[in-house]
Amino acid sequence: MTFKLFAACAALSCSLFAIGCSTDTSSVSAPRTAAATDFGPGFHKIKDGIYTFAPDQTTTTCSMVVTQDGVLLIDSCNSSLDSKRMLNAVKKVTDKPIRFLVDTEVHNDHTWNHFVFSPPAVVVNAQGAVEGQKKGLDPKRVETLAKQSPEMAEIVKNYKFIAPHIEYNDRLTIQLGERTFDVIYLKNVHSEADSIIWLPKERVLFAGSAANVRTMINLRPHVRIPDVLAGYKVMRALNPEIVVPGHGQPTTAKIFDEYEGFYTLLMKRVGEMAAQGKSLDQIKKELKMPEYADWAGQDRLGVNIDVAYASLKGK
Ligand SMILES: [Zn+2]
Repeated sequence: MTFKLFAACAALSCSLFAIGCSTDTSSVSAPRTAAATDFGPGFHKIKDGIYTFAPDQTTTTCSMVVTQDGVLLIDSCNSSLDSKRMLNAVKKVTDKPIRFLVDTEVHNDHTWNHFVFSPPAVVVNAQGAVEGQKKGLDPKRVETLAKQSPEMAEIVKNYKFIAPHIEYNDRLTIQLGERTFDVIYLKNVHSEADSIIWLPKERVLFAGSAANVRTMINLRPHVRIPDVLAGYKVMRALNPEIVVPGHGQPTTAKIFDEYEGFYTLLMKRVGEMAAQGKSLDQIKKELKMPEYADWAGQDRLGVNIDVAYASLKGK
């Protein structure tokens, strides 16, 4: 079989490279089909050969896409126990290897468990991912997790730091088996390197953590709301049928509208209060978003105000 990577670089001249892997083509077989219920709670079958896994509405989502020539995973799950569940699910569906693992961001809840899948998976994310991932490492994490249960200890004893093997600029197309994956960089929407994965034929979008499901997001200080809104525009323009968020269960492009509404109202309120001469501290004390009282993560309103304020000041 052959898989091809097409890398298009924004700032640099476009480069094109292909990696050929020779295996016995006579062994190529269609993926086995399986119901998501075969894998346990939290798994969803999106389309034939496309499965997502999130134990609940706020926990990190990880997903698999099966092709005739192997599997592409999106994110490596938050808990190592969940990574093992995902690995077992992959084995139930196909005997082909996991060829690629594409990260939607650099944070540990999406990337720390690379070691469960790689090798053999080649890990991919946008430029800046390796540095970003290194920055977030907790040297005590293996020790802490090992204390949780013998099952966890058994998995994390094999921990090894695995950084992305490939960093791309702007856009990368992966052809694997019969499927096409467009990996697209979104600037400054959540972490130091954020990718979305678009399957144009299947119209499925893995959207990362710029929008989740009715949850206030832990916005890092470097995030800027206009960049986030620009990201929604890019994702909406793809016209996806199914949107898989970075956390929670599969949904649709309506989440981009919901978050756009939230951030637009937040920016308006912060802007009005700043225009009245209020300090950031005063704004954080007084500003309420009662329209979004049913969203999870209410304790993150403060960091959302910080980022809205910085975005308005153009800092
Ligand atoms: Zn994150």
